[in-house]
This record gives sequence, C-alpha cells and structure tokens, in this order.
Amino acid sequence: MATATARTPQRPHFQLPKLPYAEDALAPVISAETLALHHGKHHRKYVDTMNQLLEKEPVHGAQTLEDVVRRASGKLFNNAAQAWNHDFYWKSLRPKGGGEPPAALKQWIETSFITVDACKKELAQAATKQFGSGWAWLVQEHGKLKVVGTGNAENPLAKGATPLLTIDVWEHAYYLDHQNRRVDYVNGVLDKLINWGFAADNLG
Ligand code: FE
Repeated sequence: MATATARTPQRPHFQLPKLPYAEDALAPVISAETLALHHGKHHRKYVDTMNQLLEKEPVHGAQTLEDVVRRASGKLFNNAAQAWNHDFYWKSLRPKGGGEPPAALKQWIETSFITVDACKKELAQAATKQFGSGWAWLVQEHGKLKVVGTGNAENPLAKGATPLLTIDVWEHAYYLDHQNRRVDYVNGVLDKLINWGFAADNLG
C-alpha cells in the first residue's frame, strides 16, 4: 500500500504523494497551516532524503516503498519509514471522519476490544503516553486487532503486523494548533477525523 511509485526498475525514486483532501479540510482539529507544513515540508523532506540515500546505496531487490522499509536500516530506514508512515497517516484521516466503523471492522473491534469506545480509549492512551516522538497504530496480528505505539520512525510493517490506521504524535503534527495539549489533538482526531473506512479496507 503506497501511492509512491518506482520510476525505474533498477533504481527506485519516489514521489511525494498528494494529500487526499484540501489543506483546510481537517480544521479546526488540524489547521491548513499545520497540514501545509507537515505535508509540504516534513513529509517532503523524508521523501527527498530517502531518494538521495537510494541514489548512493540502492537496496538490493527493493522496488516498492514497502520493500525499502522492510529491508533498509539506519538513516535510510528512518526516512523511508517516515515517508510510508505519513502517506498512511493522511489516509487514516478524513474530513467528517469518526463515527461508527463499517460493519466488518466493527465486528473485529468488538471481538478484540468489546466496544468501539474501548478501542478508541486504547488508541488515545497509546497516543498520549508515547514518550517523545512516535505513532499510535491499530493493527491486525495473529487473528485479532490490537493497539501499539512506536517511537520515532518505527512502524508495525517492519515487524510483520498489518497496520490498519495510525495517528502521528510527533509535535509537528499538533503543536501549532494545540501547543503542548497532545490529548486535545488525539481526541479531536479520534472523534472527528479518524477514517474507519480506510482501516476496514486494510483488513487482511
Ligand atoms: Fe509527522
């Protein structure tokens, strides 16, 4: 799953994927100013740095962004994973999101967490308790759903789980809009922006 595409088979070169909505579409939880910086500067920098590193040391056999994330290490892993994580994060949000998950996903959630609210609560806890920079994820692994938090660029893809949705909890994701109140950003995302339909599409 990535909209970034390889330009040549031998030496992959990735494009910054477009945002799936307008920059002002997620306000007031996430302002147009935050989205412009987060997508146009932060995400772009990860993609550009990954491309520069790939020019110098291609990853053998890696064609897709997922291949690079799974096989790279060090600085290349950090930039490739951040490129992938951000693409996944934009799709994990939508204008007028939140609400009820689609039936198939709701069944999975109720099997794993009992209620949708309990699942949201676990996601909120993982997102607010993540120390420093990182991500909160809903994943599918070993026949059930669970919530995991990862630090910096780490993601469940690299660990073999199937990510369903994610929330970016790096300060650049919320500081302009909520300053130090990460909890306000996280609750706003879960109540008003989370894209349960995208998570349902990712079920294996
Ligand atoms: Fe970010």
